[in-house]
Amino acid sequence: MKKTIALIMTALLVFPLIACGSSKDAAAEGSVKTVTAGVLTMATNAYFPPYEYYEGDDIVGIDAEIAKAVADKLGMELKIEDMEFDSIITAVASGKADIGLAGMTVTEERKKNINFTDSYATGVQVVIVKEDSDIKSVDDLGGKKIGVQLATTGDIYCTDDFGQENVEEYSKGNDAVMALVSGKVDAVVIDNEPAKNYVAANDGLKILDTEYVKEDYAAAINKENTELLDAVNKALGELKSEGKLDEIISKYIK
Ligand code: GLN
Repeated sequence: MKKTIALIMTALLVFPLIACGSSKDAAAEGSVKTVTAGVLTMATNAYFPPYEYYEGDDIVGIDAEIAKAVADKLGMELKIEDMEFDSIITAVASGKADIGLAGMTVTEERKKNINFTDSYATGVQVVIVKEDSDIKSVDDLGGKKIGVQLATTGDIYCTDDFGQENVEEYSKGNDAVMALVSGKVDAVVIDNEPAKNYVAANDGLKILDTEYVKEDYAAAINKENTELLDAVNKALGELKSEGKLDEIISKYIK
C-alpha cells in the first residue's frame, strides 16, 4: 500500500515536469522542422576558400561560421555535409539537407528548385590566367580553353558566352586551377575570393582587373519549408544588425 502511494505521489510530481519540459522544447523549436529535430543540416562543397574549406578534419570558413551563428539563434546544433557543388541544390530540394551554403549565387534558374534566403555576401566572377598570358580582359577569352567548376555560375556564363566546346568543367575549383598551371586550359573563371586564395597558393598566376559578373550569395532552402526560410532570414537580419555578419566576413576577407 505504501509502495502504491509512493508511486502515485512520484507520478503526480513527475508528470507535470515531463509535460512542462516537452511543451517548452516544442516552443523553443517553434514550428520549424528540420531533417533531424534540433539539428540544422547544411550541405556545402568544402573546396571554396574562404567560404568553406578544410582545416584538418573540420570544415571552416565564412559560410560555416554564419551557419553556426544562425543555428545558435535557432537553438539548433549545426551539422555540415560535404558534397559536390552540383549536388547541393538536389540535397536541399529532396529534403536530405535543410540549408545549402556554398558561396552560392542567386539565379532565377536555381529559384525554380529552391528558395533563397536574403543575400549575406557578394561575389564577382573573375578570370585567372598565367602571368605572361596574352589574355588581357574577358573579351580575349573567345576561342580559348576556359576551366571552370562544374555547374557554377562561371560554368554557366562561359558556356553561354564562349561555347561548350571551349569550356572544361572540373568538380573542384582547385582542379581547374591545376589545369591552368599545367597548361591544359588558358584561363579559369571562378569567384573572386577563392581566386585570390588560388593565386596566392600557386606561383605565376594573376587575376585580370576586368570583372566578369557581380553576384549575390544566399543560402538555399527547401521550397516547402517557409518556416525555416523565415527563421533563417530573421537570424541573418539580427546577425547583420549586431555586426556579427561583418565580423565573420572580415575575419576571412582582409
Ligand atoms: N558562386 C558560384 C555559384 O554559385 C560558385 C559557388 C561555388 O563554387 N561554391 O555558382
